[in-house]
Amino acid sequence: MATNPDAGAPKTAAQTPAPPADPCELVATLSDGTKVKRRLVRMRACNEKDAKGKVCAGHLKRWYFFGQEVKEKFGANAEIYRCENCKVLYLPNGGEAPRSGTMEY
Ligand SMILES: [Zn+2]
Repeated sequence: MATNPDAGAPKTAAQTPAPPADPCELVATLSDGTKVKRRLVRMRACNEKDAKGKVCAGHLKRWYFFGQEVKEKFGANAEIYRCENCKVLYLPNGGEAPRSGTMEY
């Protein structure tokens, strides 16, 4: 019997997901290999680990220079942050209200 526990597992919205390894959900990987992750609430430093397991801790900065692929995935006005050290991209956390009024609406 071939049982695959990952097959078709429904996403439960009611539960709070708490993955043990990387608390940042990997949202996407771009065609050039750039990772796109979901920021934690109030997260300011990158938690990406390098091959040796050392945490990057680079500063996350708002980034406006994303290309067409990011626009197609997340929208032309997407709020994107980028680690200035390892260049991993971060999306804002859905549970975090935007602090500053933007002119997106
Ligand atoms: Zn980083």
